[in-house]
Amino acid sequence: MVRVSARLEDLPNSLENLLRPDLRGLTPYGAPQAPLPVALNVNENTHPVPEEVADDILDGIARALREVNRYPDREFTALREGFADYLGHGLAPDQIWAANGSNEVLQHLLQAFAGPGRTAFGFAPTYSMYPLLTRATGASYVSGTRGVDYTLAPEDAAAQVAQARPDVVFLCAPNNPTGTPLGLDVIEAVYDATDGIVIVDEAYQEFAPRDSRSALTLLPGRERLVVSRTMSKAFAFAGARVGYLAADPAVIDALRLVRLPYHLSALTQAAAVAALRHAPAMLAMVDDIVAQRDRISATLAALGYTPYESWTNFVLFSGVADPAATWHALYDRGVLIRDVGIAHSLRVTAGTEAESTAFLDALASIGDAGRA
Ligand SMILES: *Cc1c(COP(=O)(O)O)cnc(C)c1O
Repeated sequence: MVRVSARLEDLPNSLENLLRPDLRGLTPYGAPQAPLPVALNVNENTHPVPEEVADDILDGIARALREVNRYPDREFTALREGFADYLGHGLAPDQIWAANGSNEVLQHLLQAFAGPGRTAFGFAPTYSMYPLLTRATGASYVSGTRGVDYTLAPEDAAAQVAQARPDVVFLCAPNNPTGTPLGLDVIEAVYDATDGIVIVDEAYQEFAPRDSRSALTLLPGRERLVVSRTMSKAFAFAGARVGYLAADPAVIDALRLVRLPYHLSALTQAAAVAALRHAPAMLAMVDDIVAQRDRISATLAALGYTPYESWTNFVLFSGVADPAATWHALYDRGVLIRDVGIAHSLRVTAGTEAESTAFLDALASIGDAGRA
């Protein structure tokens, strides 16, 4: 039988002493992966890839497989062209980078621009991977604070960044786990307040109102600005592991220093290129998900909870008496959501209509006991 150490603290002494001192005591990313009928805990697009798109992706993978004896295109040229087309805003392929999920994109940025002796900064609460990815490169992570309802004001955000003097700033727009939109004025103010790299993480941008402007519009003339995206959320492609960014070509050159050779497999490239060719079909469910998100918010309010404004595919809500107890009560009813560690709050992903209803019914069945 293979024995697995349940926790890092349980490492045998000999290994504990070998582990880098700056990694001791850290906790790995660990959103539970439980096989429940309704899984609304990690902000996936719960709609499957449309049948006709799946066929085309399979054709692309089949063709790539015939040449899989060779290393793939190290520069993933076709994929970069696909992303440049998809993003628009006059972007050229030499302004695009991609990797195995935007987590790896962020890791490349930190490997190039953070590392030992350096500092990265983010406004808490925000994406839990920022500190982990930062510390894994040997850099330290500093948390700033948010204002009322987790919003950020330009002057406040700029003042905090100016004081912290970080080498890398993370701005999650809209923010995970709160759903909060971020004004372009905040991004401009933070950019002007630092000499470091400013990463705007737009993992959820496709769920924002159609007329809202992306940070991509701020790229011209800002060579330290990076806008990252992912195919994991709106594109229903989380299992394929594809993330990307747009930035100045000089930033892209820096990332070539830290990536592993051929880091994007031929199969990943083929799958992503085919999916991008069908972007409208892949994104067809976004409106439906946004409608479910808004229905979840309205129903949560009617149930006596307090949902926060969300421009994403999930809703953070407060007014929960005991988040761990409610999480377990939902689990027992076959519904998996996320306890993100914010007092009296839980986060739920907007699923299909049936999944969203299952969550709302399960929560309603807990009744008054669930509310603070
Ligand atoms: C989900 C998410 C990502 C994307 O992760 P992938 O590695 O692309 O799957 C990035 N940033 C935020 C804020 C997220 O919530």
